[in-house]
Parts: sequence; structure tokens; C-alpha cells
Amino acid sequence: MNSINSLKASPKKTPITDDYEITKQVLGLGINGKVVECYNKKTREKFALKILVESEKAKREVNLHWRASGCRHIVNIIDVYENKYHSNTCLLVVMECMEGGELFQRIQDRPEGAFTEREAAQVMHEICVAVKYLHDRNIAHRDLKPENLLYSKNGNYGVLKLTDFGFAKETINKDTLQTPCYTPYYVAPEVLGPEKYDKSCDIWSLGVIMYILLCGFPPFYSNHGLAISPGMKKRIRTGQYTFPLPEWQNVSQDAKDLINGMLNVDPAKRLIIDDVMNNRWIAQYTAVPQTPLHTHRMLKEGEDMWPEVQEEMTRSLATMRVDYDQVQMKPLDKSNNSLLNKRRKKVFMAVSPKKV
Ligand code: ADP
Repeated sequence: MNSINSLKASPKKTPITDDYEITKQVLGLGINGKVVECYNKKTREKFALKILVESEKAKREVNLHWRASGCRHIVNIIDVYENKYHSNTCLLVVMECMEGGELFQRIQDRPEGAFTEREAAQVMHEICVAVKYLHDRNIAHRDLKPENLLYSKNGNYGVLKLTDFGFAKETINKDTLQTPCYTPYYVAPEVLGPEKYDKSCDIWSLGVIMYILLCGFPPFYSNHGLAISPGMKKRIRTGQYTFPLPEWQNVSQDAKDLINGMLNVDPAKRLIIDDVMNNRWIAQYTAVPQTPLHTHRMLKEGEDMWPEVQEEMTRSLATMRVDYDQVQMKPLDKSNNSLLNKRRKKVFMAVSPKKV
């Protein structure tokens, strides 16, 4: 049996309805299933229930999400059931219920000028805690984007948490692990290399999220809302972004340097999560200047464009995942390979339906 694709902890086989009351209240619709409200029958506590039809992909998602549960800044799984549901075997995932909405919505809902560079640093610190927790456990999230960052509650007691492990991947080099006398000190960097690519996807996301936190618009955008903008792809590949004025005028050089390190076009040179955690803008976030930012105003002004910003980040991450998977399969292959390009195009089309 393939241990990676089977569940590490076993789901309960008893009917979920023994323990939880399932409501019709839909919290959200995903690509793979819906999320509804449910209540613990004993405690009456409210939870979110994600329903997935069982498949290898669903098992992997649940397995990795389960392994990641335990971090304050990750939506924790409480229980998993495997039940038959209309003749399908389903995985029923009971999670903490996130009632405080998405990260950027919350910033947008704040009073004008209330969001400062120090608060942006605090938010980044929280997201980095989640990413470090994952990377330390050899898990790359690979879908780190604004809509997957949710607050547990409204108000000051809400905690920011990362969710959606639909594209998460185990990054451990299995062959190396199976070697009994393995000693990392003598292994050339390129042997340990491949796992870095998947994790570097998360660092790129951190760079984009930090950029948006500090100004309210993304570093890369496509021209005139084209579904696939070749220009945007090129700008991402070549790292063409700027820190335009007046929004970036008063933002610290430390912050800009950190973004540059996270958006490095070469995934091998991009910072790793430990570099980011040790960076003083993150490690000493309480000492970051309380400079008021333009974020709130720019998010409000760009409200209509936000769905597009989200779609573009989704597409960029999809392309990056394919590209990095290819690098890992064939390290010497340079990207100018017609078959490979065809395949990439196919994936790109699959995630970006043509707009009418
Ligand atoms: P998919 O991976 O299929 O896209 P998600 O896990 O992102 O599905 O969930 C889909 C939607 O359900 C989310 O966008 C969000 O609105 C809602 N949702 C997911 N998890 C929770 C949760 N723990 N609490 C509240 N709402 C949630």
C-alpha cells in the first residue's frame, strides 16, 4: 500500500450523525465539495464540515491537513469520518469554524488609515508561523493565497488561520529517507534540491501577500483583464515589479528588501522560511514603525477588481506548481521542450476558462 496516499490516522467509520448535527447552512463551495455548518451534539459547539467524495486526492488533502493540525495559525481538523453517502464513500472533515471572514476583507472593513506597517508585520508573522509549521513537517501548501487566509471570529479575538490543503504536497525525498545510513552533512545540495521547489512556491505567495498588505494592490497584474496575459507571465518570470509612489513612499526599506528576497525569480535563490522568520521585520515585528499605509484606501478603490486579482493569483500558482513539478521530474530539462510546453498550456487552459 502506498503510505503517502493513504490516511495516516484512520477516519471514524461510525455515522457522523451519532456525534454531529449537520445543518443545511452552506459556509462555502469549493472545487471538490461543499462546506456546511455542523454542531457537536454533546457540547453544541459549532464547526465547519467539509464533504469530499473519497479519492486518492481527497485522502492526500485530508491526510496532510490532519498532520498540519495543531498550529494556532492553521484551521485545525477536529474529526474525520468515512461514511457512505448516496452510495458514495465520503470523507467528512470536521474543522474549526471560521467566522471572521477573509484577511483582506477585514482590512478593507477597518476605518480609513487605521492599518499600519507594524500591523502588516504582525499579520505576516502569523502567516509565517503557519508556513514554518508546515515546512518543518515537510509539507508544502502550494495554494497560499488571500482567500485561504481566514479569521476565526470577528473582532479583536479572531485568529488568522491558513486553510485549504487541496494542493498540499509531501516534500520529503522518499528515496533518501529509506537509506538507513543517511547523513545530511555529506549530501550535495542538488540531491536535497527538489523539495525546495515546492516550498519556494509558498515563499513566493508570502511575498505577494506581503506586497498587497503594504499597499493594497498586487505586484503583478495582467493587462486589461485578459484571462491569460502573456505579459503578466513574463513579468512574474522576470521579476518585473516596482514599489510605486506615493503608496510605497513611507514603507521601510527592510520591508522592501524582504519582499525582494521572497519574490526572487530563481526558486533556488529565494529565501526559505527560516530566513524569513529570522528577518528582523518579521522576528521583531513589534519594533516595526507604525507608519500608516494606503492599503485600506487602495483595497476599497480596487474592490471591483479583487475577484480578478484572486483569479490571477490562482492561475499563477497553478502554473508555478506545474513548472516546479517538471523541474523535479527532469532536472536537466530546459524549458524549451515542445511537448512540455504543450502540457503546460493544457494545464494553463484548464485553470483559466476563457472569458467572454
Ligand atoms: P476547495 O478546496 O474545494 O476550494 P475550501 O476548503 O477552500 O474548498 O472551502 C470552500 C469555501 O468554504 C471557502 O472558500 C470558505 O468560504 C468556506 N470554508 C472552508 N473552510 C471553512 C471553515 N473552516 N470555516 C468556515 N468556512 C469555511
